[in-house]
Amino acid sequence: MFFENCITSFLNLIYKQNCLICNCAKVDNFLCKTCLKDVHNLSSFAHRVYKNIPIYSAYIYSGSIKKLIQLLKFSHKKQASKVLSQLLFDYFKKLDLNKDFIIIYPNTYFIKSFSRGYNYMYLLALEFSKLTGFKVEKNLIKKIKYTKPQYLAKNRHKNIEGSFKINKKTAQKYKDKNILIIDDITTSGATLEEIINCCLDNNLNSLICLTISKTV
Ligand SMILES: [Zn+2]
Repeated sequence: MFFENCITSFLNLIYKQNCLICNCAKVDNFLCKTCLKDVHNLSSFAHRVYKNIPIYSAYIYSGSIKKLIQLLKFSHKKQASKVLSQLLFDYFKKLDLNKDFIIIYPNTYFIKSFSRGYNYMYLLALEFSKLTGFKVEKNLIKKIKYTKPQYLAKNRHKNIEGSFKINKKTAQKYKDKNILIIDDITTSGATLEEIINCCLDNNLNSLICLTISKTV
């Protein structure tokens, strides 16, 4: 019994993950209760509509959501993708859409993924796919040119214009499917609008956009 207890304590010590944000030890699932509370929910109505396509955002880009996105993008904390996708899923369930979707996301230019060592949006899409059961399609839309990060661009629409390309063969395969475009943050909506235009130009008409966060 003593031996078993020792092993359990040892395993807890090894596998116990501290809070991703504040590093405290009182954690259930990557976050402590205090950090988990520091999220600001948005309503389950479309926050924007572009060419009849609804754009939903789950949380305000602040508090723990902002910290988790930054940890995932800039600090190589891949576990943040699990927490963020769970939070996105909690919101998605409230929308009560009752449909199957193909998940796509704004691909980063290959050099960016290469220098980071991973494509953070792909990780998010994969984790979200595990929760929803929806397929991720990473070959439908490609980023074909390097662009400044949107938050640094003077004109966000101009910066992103013409930077995505649809694979027409793949698009043909999905023309009768519902497509769910996910992204981490939306500010001006320029990236999502660009992707929506690419999809509509290729007869992908059943679209919904869902972002983890929205700046205010
Ligand atoms: Zn914490």
